[in-house]
Amino acid sequence: MEETEFNLDQIDIKEFNSVIIGSGAAGLNCALHLVGEGINPTEIAIITEQLGGGTSFNTGSDKQTYYKMSLTGNQMDSPFEMAKDLCAGGAMHGDIALIEATNSIREFFHLVQLGVPFPHDQFGGFVGYKTDNDPRQRATSIGPFTSQEMGKCLLKEVQKEKIAIFDKHYALNILFDNTKKRSEAIGVVCIKTDELISEKNMGNIINSIKIFKARNIIIATGGPAALYKHSVYPKSQKGSLGLAITAGCKLQNLTESQFGLASIKFRWNVSGSYQQVIPRYISVDKNGKETEFLMKYFPSFQQLSKAIFLKGYQWPFNAERIEDFGSSLIDLAVYNETEILDNDVYLDFTKNSLNYEEELLDPIVKRYLSNSNALARNPLERLKKLNAQAVEIYKKNGIDISKELLQIAVCNQHLNGGISADMWWETNIKHLFAIGEANGSHGVHRPGGAALNSGQVGGLRVAQKIGHTYAKLEPLNRYRFLQIIAPNLSSIFNIIKFALFKKAIMNIDQMTPAQFWEHIQDRMSKFGGIIRPSKDFFEEGKEIIKQIYNLKIILILNNNKEIIEYLRIRDALLTQQYILKSILNYHESNGKSRGSYLILRDALNESLNERYIIPPGELKEFKFIKSDIILEEKIQTIQSHAGIITFEWEKVRDIPNEFGWFENVWKDFSDGKIFN
Ligand SMILES: Cc1cc2nc3c(=O)[nH]c(=O)nc-3n(C[C@H](O)[C@H](O)[C@H](O)COP(=O)(O)OP(=O)(O)OC[C@H]3O[C@@H](n4cnc5c(N)ncnc54)[C@H](O)[C@@H]3O)c2cc1C
Repeated sequence: MEETEFNLDQIDIKEFNSVIIGSGAAGLNCALHLVGEGINPTEIAIITEQLGGGTSFNTGSDKQTYYKMSLTGNQMDSPFEMAKDLCAGGAMHGDIALIEATNSIREFFHLVQLGVPFPHDQFGGFVGYKTDNDPRQRATSIGPFTSQEMGKCLLKEVQKEKIAIFDKHYALNILFDNTKKRSEAIGVVCIKTDELISEKNMGNIINSIKIFKARNIIIATGGPAALYKHSVYPKSQKGSLGLAITAGCKLQNLTESQFGLASIKFRWNVSGSYQQVIPRYISVDKNGKETEFLMKYFPSFQQLSKAIFLKGYQWPFNAERIEDFGSSLIDLAVYNETEILDNDVYLDFTKNSLNYEEELLDPIVKRYLSNSNALARNPLERLKKLNAQAVEIYKKNGIDISKELLQIAVCNQHLNGGISADMWWETNIKHLFAIGEANGSHGVHRPGGAALNSGQVGGLRVAQKIGHTYAKLEPLNRYRFLQIIAPNLSSIFNIIKFALFKKAIMNIDQMTPAQFWEHIQDRMSKFGGIIRPSKDFFEEGKEIIKQIYNLKIILILNNNKEIIEYLRIRDALLTQQYILKSILNYHESNGKSRGSYLILRDALNESLNERYIIPPGELKEFKFIKSDIILEEKIQTIQSHAGIITFEWEKVRDIPNEFGWFENVWKDFSDGKIFN
């Protein structure tokens, strides 16, 4: 196929000091802090594929949590103590944890100032509660929609500041100058999605390309949300880790995804009160036969009621909570029904379980329901008493749980890992930053609510770094910039042209975008869900490489509009390759079951004191490995060097515990030394 001809003067190029990719809570907050740190609002741009899209604006849960240091009454807390708890799951750097803890208060009050109505008492104390993996009461919430309200308040302020927002701009490539000793980001290539037409036409593709030249680029594109069939991420969020991968960024902890129970018709976590009222769990097979399957795995209703109740607080699936009839045994049983037996699983709020008797409830359940004045004849009545809003949310989304069953599955919810960055959230590429869920600062597990805090703190740190060290525009002149981007654009246009205008090719099975997504998601379920077998990995890895290489041939594209699907699938495939390679490397490093997954391997390595844990009943097939190996003192990183993917296991940095002498810190701060 002939090269695509284009004239660089035809291409729309805009220039800013800082370009933020993504308009979620992390990206919007960063824009505001840039202004606070002295960058003129006219020098800042937010580019986003969909303003109001993404996770922050479209998600929530029973009590969506924001995690911050405690600051009320006689609670004893400190940044150091909070940092210890952020790091407790392992595989998290201590300095990053200390920064997230120290700045949590500043960021929390930033949100309060912007109008997020976090509740306080008559003394002005911002009361808290205990969330998952939290030994204190650091969690706060405004109810089910904390992140949505954060997003709205942040956006209002961004609009007040008149910061430019480029909506319907899909970023497809980071531009960088690699003639420097350390590669430097210099711009972003976007495609304006609403300009694409329903025909195949290269002229229209070229006109839809928009270039942003920038001194600083901040990736705030959220989590890789489209990789799993069962997902509780909002549908408008897809994720763009491929942007960082193709730019040559180092990524980390990609093995650490988080999963939990959620309804699938309307995507919503069934955490908190949905479990505390002890709903009836049923599975329905292809012949319509209904079974209360959980009773197969718990020796008594008392133990089952306790596990269901705890699932409310302990929402993410956790390898440590299977034994002794722990709450994650429920996720495992649901997984077995849906993924292995191909049944549908539902929560029924209209009836009690066959074995339900108030007298048989575990004492912690009974005490809680009684103290909450929520003991009633069935789960629905209990839920109405405990949290009436929980029923209403489903009603508003077309599901009446007072009449119908609620279909659930074990769903993907969050990636704790992501792009690696330093203390200022700058990546290994100079002037390229990563914040929010795209940044992989968390470890194996994290306190609930730490994701939202981390996203806010990251934006502040980036703005401080840029304000103090990268505030001036890049001296790179337009001619040199065009010289760098010309081959990049040429390659993009040639790939797109091929993808659109190819003829059918022998021996290659073609797929529509919908078929290809299904393929990606099936692969993820097989190797990267809560169950992680080591078998057949190698072959699958080879297949992914082939697909990345041949994607432009494989995908059937009918018109220019579908190019976006091509770009998203390319991104998802690259991300999948990195995640699955990380999981394979984890197997090869003798990693044990941890976080939100169980490791299955055929043989035990006895020198590492590996042992099988065998879950009860039919679940014995999921006999998973535990051992004495402690990989949590290291962080697994992955990076591509000249096309070759390599791993490093970096030693976790300790939490700093020397905090300087005031006069010296004051001087370093005034001289700007702390920002280097
Ligand atoms: C069901 C659920 C419940 C949760 N509950 C909690 C909780 O209680 N506490 C907590 O701390 N965390 C929670 N989380 C996680 C938290 O909500 C997210 O991590 C956080 O909102 C992510 O914010 P973000 O700004 O990084 O990304 P997002 O809000 O996802 O924003 C990403 C933005 O990037 C844009 N974008 C993506 N790719 C591109 C591209 N190529 N070009 C242009 N734009 C692009 C998107 O359109 C979007 O605007 C929950 C998540 C889910 C799914």
